[in-house]
Amino acid sequence: IRKSELLEFIAPAGSIDDIGGLDNLKQWLVKRNGSWLPEAARWGIGSPKGILITGVPGCGKSLTAKCMSSLWGLPLLRLDVGKVFSGLVGSSEQNMRAALRLAEAVAPSILWIDEIEKGFGSATSSSSGDSGTSQRVFGTFLTWLQEKTSPVFVIATANKIDALPPEFLRKGRFDEIFFVDLPTPAEREEIWALHLRRRLAAGEALGSHVPPTPEVVAELARRTDGFSGAEIEQAVVSACFDAFAERRPLGWTDLEHAVRSTVPLSVTQAEQVDT
Ligand code: ATP
Repeated sequence: IRKSELLEFIAPAGSIDDIGGLDNLKQWLVKRNGSWLPEAARWGIGSPKGILITGVPGCGKSLTAKCMSSLWGLPLLRLDVGKVFSGLVGSSEQNMRAALRLAEAVAPSILWIDEIEKGFGSATSSSSGDSGTSQRVFGTFLTWLQEKTSPVFVIATANKIDALPPEFLRKGRFDEIFFVDLPTPAEREEIWALHLRRRLAAGEALGSHVPPTPEVVAELARRTDGFSGAEIEQAVVSACFDAFAERRPLGWTDLEHAVRSTVPLSVTQAEQVDT
């Protein structure tokens, strides 16, 4: 099966070392790698049901899902919550059941429910149809999550935790709930170094780039308070394009310029609150 209406196979990407910061989350995933194998059953520790990752946009939730798939060597299936509630492909509960069955058919597998709040969050939101439908679909999913015996590991991601119904957050539903926030200065250093190293390796033929030494990344981290991981990546890409356009190595001024021209979302939002 390559693709269904509701589920899409996502290619695993990167390794766990491509995630800057988020140490607790990474350790959790590393320790549970292989937990679905018979040798784990002998420990009597059971396979995890799933995790919920919630927090600000661009801070590595989707990246974690993809890296987890490569770390664990399991197929990653992304559930399109919007399509579950679409009237076009049949009833919403049936859609949810069909998606869960498909994930079970390829188990051991990882079922990624992205922006879960869009489907289950507001019982009255138009995306989730009437509130009764939303509740029933949500009930179908939670019952399955509690009772499932096949090794389908759920990774649910949400930007807005307050949009999720409280039942979702009750202890025992998910194995763990991780909150991801804007990176700390030390995490920003890691993220700058990761993205610079990746691009600089690709452009080596151009000559000697500004090296991502501890001093350079510390200075970049200092200048990028409020940046998300995605915004740091954007700044690296934009600086690389400036250099690439002139077929010259990446310089400090390219990075400085890219940082100065990026207004992070966290700042824009803070300004909106102020006015
Ligand atoms: P959204 O809710 O907007 O989907 P997200 O939290 O899922 O946001 P990602 O899609 O994972 O964010 O981040 C976008 C890109 O930003 C990633 O592919 C990655 O290149 C970069 N990025 C974000 N966070 C990190 C991080 N902690 N370490 C390294 N790169 C990061």
